[in-house]
Amino acid sequence: MTTFAELGLAPDILRALDEMGYLTPTPIQEQVIPLALQGADILGAAQTGTGKTAAFALPLIQRLLPFANTGTSPAKHPIRALILTPTRELAIQVEEAVQAYTKHVPLRSLVVYGGVSINTQIPILKAGVEILVATPGRLLDHVQNKTLMLNQVNTLVLDEADRMLDMGFMPDLKRIVALLPAQRVNMMFSATFPEEIRKLADSILNQPTFIEVARNETAVNVTQVVHPVHHERKRQLLAHLIMSRDLRQVLVFTGTKLGCNRLANELNKLGIHADAIHGDKTQQERIKALDAFKAGTMRVLVATDVAARGIDIEALPFVVNYDLPHNAEDYVHRIGRTGRAGASGEAISLVSESETRYLKDIEKLIGSDIEAVIVPGFEPGVADVPAYQSRPPRPDRPVERPVERSAEQRAPRPRPAAARDALFEAPYEPSAAPPADITPALVRPAPKKQVAALFRSPVKPDTAGQ
Ligand code: AMP
Repeated sequence: MTTFAELGLAPDILRALDEMGYLTPTPIQEQVIPLALQGADILGAAQTGTGKTAAFALPLIQRLLPFANTGTSPAKHPIRALILTPTRELAIQVEEAVQAYTKHVPLRSLVVYGGVSINTQIPILKAGVEILVATPGRLLDHVQNKTLMLNQVNTLVLDEADRMLDMGFMPDLKRIVALLPAQRVNMMFSATFPEEIRKLADSILNQPTFIEVARNETAVNVTQVVHPVHHERKRQLLAHLIMSRDLRQVLVFTGTKLGCNRLANELNKLGIHADAIHGDKTQQERIKALDAFKAGTMRVLVATDVAARGIDIEALPFVVNYDLPHNAEDYVHRIGRTGRAGASGEAISLVSESETRYLKDIEKLIGSDIEAVIVPGFEPGVADVPAYQSRPPRPDRPVERPVERSAEQRAPRPRPAAARDALFEAPYEPSAAPPADITPALVRPAPKKQVAALFRSPVKPDTAGQ
């Protein structure tokens, strides 16, 4: 098995990798790093989760080592490497990785993105940074303001180029590239290669080496199921699934930070111990939540895609897509968090009508349809009926109490009474409670449909490179 040292990385970089727990290079790192260290242009077909960030960032950093210095003059810290990403989230994540990899070398990095005040970015840029991670629009704002210079850039990375195309960044990209010195190393990564991306690659890259990481290298045993449901009833369906099936260690993905917080709060109100992690939480808060989740003392972790990137849990049994990701690649990344290393896992997606187009994209990407199972009592189109208390249970349909049954039968440790009662006995919010006569029956687990060998799993320290 190849080691990072064998790839030719410098000791200070190796030390940082060691501290981060990276044991062995992933396939894309094994292929890209040696070539990029020699200054070759790279065209990479790889998606998030393959370790592509380190694949481009490590050689980029190593090639800047001769320029690393602790001088205070801004002139000693011109921008030498530019990494462009389509989204603020990805930009932040990439720069966090760069920070970690450069922990033991005096190279400075900064991330700039739109939607926040430009003024806080300016003094840092003025002081000088060698590695700039940026979204295209904000970078051009700085160019226009003359708050940065790109004339010493010797390395350009375009990350998730196809998403940049989808988001309409092509004109911005062309303008940016025109501002760079002609003599430079280029690396471009994309999950897909439509015609326009090929053209862009032709115009930017110089005789690139094409490196592809196959999606189906690693067998992953993930059972996937979709539960169609009215969007207003997702929260209750989730609570119902967790309680009636006695799910533990459930990683739930939401699309927004706000939704993430809200869902965790609501689950807690229902007596289901949950916490949220997202970009606005401090590192300490994230670590605390993760530790509790890993230890099994917290049942549900609600996360955004970005915050969940670093989560690496042995045999995580359940992943729930509370919101479907708008980018099909993210689905693969999310569900890759379960069913790792031969363990079986279940990926449950709660899909409202407005999300069916995202589901279609996902099914197209993974090359198969995901089984749809309607949970009785949560039929799509059946929204909340407010008057929960005022409706007596129908005599022909006894109200089931799945929570109590599962607690009696299986709960390994006592739960507070509130945990059992809140969901089915007390309406916590009149507008959100289910009507008594459609109190859901116990959900049967969806028939198992194995999708072994469909995806490569995201990188994991103990399996990387194996
Ligand atoms: P990426 O595909 O670059 O977004 O990386 C996905 C995740 O894998 C990130 O959390 C990285 O920190 C992690 N990672 C990347 N390379 C390795 C490696 N060689 N060993 C362990 N973890 C890694």
